[in-house]
Amino acid sequence: MSNKTIEPTVGMTRRSFNKWTAAVGGTTALVASGVTLLPLSVAPTVAHGVEGIPEAKTTWSACVVNCGSRCPLRLQVHDNHIVRVLPDNTGDDSLLGRQIRACVRGRNMRQRVYNPDRIKVPLKRRPGTKRGDGKWDEISWDEALNLFAGELRRCIDEYGNESVFSVYGSGVWNAHLESSALFRRLFNLLGGSLNYYGNYSYSQIGTITRFHYGAPDEQMSNSFEDSITNGRMLVLWGNNPQETRMSGGGNTFTSLEAARTAGLKVAVVDPRHSDSVAVLADQWISPRPGTDTALIAGMIHHLLAKNLHDQDFLDRYCVGFDEQHMPESVSAGLSYRSYIEGTGPDGVEKTPEWAASICGVPAQQIKDFAVELASNSPVNITQGWGPQRHANGENQARAIYLLSNVLGQVGIEGGGTGGREGYFWPKTSWFPAGENPVTAAISNFAWTDAIERGPEMTAEGDGVRGADRLTTGIKFMLEFGGNMLASQHADNNRTRKIVRDESKCEFICVIDNQFSRSAELADLVLPDTTTAERWDLVPSEYTGDMAYLIMCEPAIKPLHQSRPAYEIAAEIAERMGVGPEYTEGRTLEGWGRHLHETENRKAVSDMPSFDEMLTKGVHRYYDPNGMAVPLRSFREDPEANPLDTPSGKIEIFSEELHEMSKTWTFANATGGDKVSSIPEHLDTWEGAMEARDNPRLPIQLIGHHFKSRVHSTYGNLSNNREAHPQVLWLNTVDAASRGIKNGDIVGIYNDRGRVHIKVRVTPRIMPGVASLPQGAWNQIDKDGIDHGGSVNTLTSLHWTPVSKGNCQHTTLVQVEYVSDEPTPTTN
Ligand code: SF4
Repeated sequence: MSNKTIEPTVGMTRRSFNKWTAAVGGTTALVASGVTLLPLSVAPTVAHGVEGIPEAKTTWSACVVNCGSRCPLRLQVHDNHIVRVLPDNTGDDSLLGRQIRACVRGRNMRQRVYNPDRIKVPLKRRPGTKRGDGKWDEISWDEALNLFAGELRRCIDEYGNESVFSVYGSGVWNAHLESSALFRRLFNLLGGSLNYYGNYSYSQIGTITRFHYGAPDEQMSNSFEDSITNGRMLVLWGNNPQETRMSGGGNTFTSLEAARTAGLKVAVVDPRHSDSVAVLADQWISPRPGTDTALIAGMIHHLLAKNLHDQDFLDRYCVGFDEQHMPESVSAGLSYRSYIEGTGPDGVEKTPEWAASICGVPAQQIKDFAVELASNSPVNITQGWGPQRHANGENQARAIYLLSNVLGQVGIEGGGTGGREGYFWPKTSWFPAGENPVTAAISNFAWTDAIERGPEMTAEGDGVRGADRLTTGIKFMLEFGGNMLASQHADNNRTRKIVRDESKCEFICVIDNQFSRSAELADLVLPDTTTAERWDLVPSEYTGDMAYLIMCEPAIKPLHQSRPAYEIAAEIAERMGVGPEYTEGRTLEGWGRHLHETENRKAVSDMPSFDEMLTKGVHRYYDPNGMAVPLRSFREDPEANPLDTPSGKIEIFSEELHEMSKTWTFANATGGDKVSSIPEHLDTWEGAMEARDNPRLPIQLIGHHFKSRVHSTYGNLSNNREAHPQVLWLNTVDAASRGIKNGDIVGIYNDRGRVHIKVRVTPRIMPGVASLPQGAWNQIDKDGIDHGGSVNTLTSLHWTPVSKGNCQHTTLVQVEYVSDEPTPTTN
């Protein structure tokens, strides 16, 4: 480096400039090597590149996290150092050619790459200490890989392959190359590992849809683009695109376009006045959390009373709505209409007034909303995943589907199924995991139970699939690119106790690029690279009718001693005698070229070659059938195109669920733990009715997705935390009755834990409800108080009846004033 001029670039603050110079050896080192540093005040503005540095190179990369979007980033590199992060510069402002603009999180990629929290070398828990004590020994890669391979072999030999488990983690699973498949492939070559089904995002809808629509996963609705083009009304039911999928390439852009479209009304249903309510909505409906089933029952009661339902659709395409369309084997009075009219088993008529007493939405508003939906056909009701992340969330999800059925909106342009907004996602290439010889699977949420009491877990009691019961508990656990062990599962304190018990799970390895809270609980920690340091191909996911692929080329060499996870897995495979089978002779780049040329270019007819993508960076592609209108063929001819349900129709009453309800058992059954044949309302444990009657824990706590993080990813970046501090949202009425002012530190507690965090007192959340943004890294003090604000310090390990899924929005707490002084540990 010599005789160069480096100026602070556009958008570079004094602080980030100082950090950058520190990272490259400090200003003294730079000046000594011949570089002239211009102060911020005199730095010329440059549109692209770093002026005066001819060898600065721009490399295509991406933000690859689990927000639902994926965004290209252009990394400008000088001397193996990223000096600037630039967004996509392809595309325009058109609906189907839009630019894929990264949000604040991806734009902060430099701070992620150069973060002091990077895991720099392999670390082994110091002998004689316990998990979580924080004492580590730096070890060589050779020793680390031998340790991993030795413990894996020991656990397989001693307990069998079912004792090996790769716990859920979504920080790295969204690319063609770096994903959980890297280690599943390794385990599969060695005899397999315990499977899991479901995910923390949408387990309930992912499971229950099979019974309602016959789809193996959630049933997508029409795309936002279709609503914009053909619809009269768009309903975002627990759906918040302005704060979740914040990319210009995804639904932030398209939902904004929907709000701008003349003649298209937008309504949002959410207990919190989210940014989607603020930016998009013509009207806001705010039910108490977990009461959507009651709200919908009241709406359907009114639709029936006014004869505004689509009886023809219900007769031809559905079973179970009324007594004339029930399975033959079922006794009378079990249809949904009987439930609504009070002629079913509970004998209660589900009037709007009944619904209002449960959900908190005034009866007149329930009636008006029902009439508005019926009067604005075609209407696309799109459900987010918050409503189903509740106790008995399966019923919540089905009820929203049902509302679309009653309105006859399925399979028509401008309408929808009641599922989440549709998208185009052709089957492109993924790193091949191979077949898992182990058939047993648990719910993604059941791993703490599988550690504690694996051999007791059964199919009918605990949702074990692929086997009648488990034969062993989990003994070897890998957390790759996730933060489940510490803060992204539930009931952090109990989970931590289970994870720390070495007599149960005997070996834990964490592989990540940041030293997360979960890494603190491992026996072995291995440093992975960031996307900026490795090859990958990144497909879009939930980006409506515009799909795309992003090329990721290594922009810089791996920092510290980090290595791409593929190389880590390949080295372990070599040590365990399956190296050639694992690699098939390919490097990571070789796999990228191979998968792209053999699969991506087959799946997408105009896909450029791998080498062309290196320059092009982003390639957009579209469904040749046009915008997403799922179940169109079923609507056109249900006899020729039946659904994959036993009746071939939409099953509002499911005979299969009815049979399951007779045999399934619940170890810790409390209110709401029931398999329901119809999407009925149930007063659940820690639900709205319990809050009303419980002076000790009267607040319903939910956790919304937050702009500064994607789950816990980016949660350790100071820039993001400064821009979006972690605060509890509390209604003005609840604050006043507790003597709490905006900005105070409050205590949030229940029997599972206690959090101390700043409060935002606001009418933007309904009374009796509080929301703590999910994904914060917990900071536990010596008294067990979490000052980081992890909502999972307070949530429960209690799972839902059918999917055995997580229900983080079913949590009761009390909130109290603690102090008006910010505490230094609060982020
Ligand atoms: S967090 Fe999501 S929206 Fe933001 S840059 Fe990354 S991929 Fe894009």
